[in-house]
Amino acid sequence: MKRKVIYQKRKSISLQVINETLVIKVPYNIKMELVDSFISKKQKWLDKQYELNKRFQLFLDKPVNILGEWYPIVLRDGKFSIELINNQIIIIKPKSLSEEATVQRLRKYLNNQLELLIQEAIDECHLKKEFEYNELKIKKLTASWGNCSSKKRLTFSTRLIHTSLPFIHAIVCHEVSHLFEMNHSKQFYDCLQYFCPTYKQDIIEFTRPTI
Ligand SMILES: [Zn+2]
Repeated sequence: MKRKVIYQKRKSISLQVINETLVIKVPYNIKMELVDSFISKKQKWLDKQYELNKRFQLFLDKPVNILGEWYPIVLRDGKFSIELINNQIIIIKPKSLSEEATVQRLRKYLNNQLELLIQEAIDECHLKKEFEYNELKIKKLTASWGNCSSKKRLTFSTRLIHTSLPFIHAIVCHEVSHLFEMNHSKQFYDCLQYFCPTYKQDIIEFTRPTI
């Protein structure tokens, strides 16, 4: 695992696994021994982050993680299609389609599946309390799971498809609550609690806390 140390005006150490790199944010003038001992204490948490990171990557010769389950890919020649059948991802592709282009199409397929799940979660929220939003987008976000703009645009990370249904539901409830309260005020958490009473338990597994 590559390491990247960023010196900042801050009081504590923060760790984040971004792609294949451990990003360590530290205060100026900190001793490296201190950072090393901090990291070794967090090894268990780090192992979990590395494991989670593996889920986010797509390769044609490796199983794909969808909602926590691993599905092997079976490649066949023919007119392009992707289907999930009998716990396998069957990708039929013309020989001319490159590996990179195939992975891109697989990502698009996963994004479409994710969008359906997110739409369902939004509809569920809507039944509890009415709201309006302008756009729903699935984007490659790596530092967050989602966001809600002041223009009422909801954006979610493509990575959510590799987490779990309760987690996706919790993230959707979080962003929908921002349609009512833009900040993380008490009112915001009251609203979130209303949409998702189990938020804290649901979120804990995949949150990427900075420690
Ligand atoms: Zn928020």
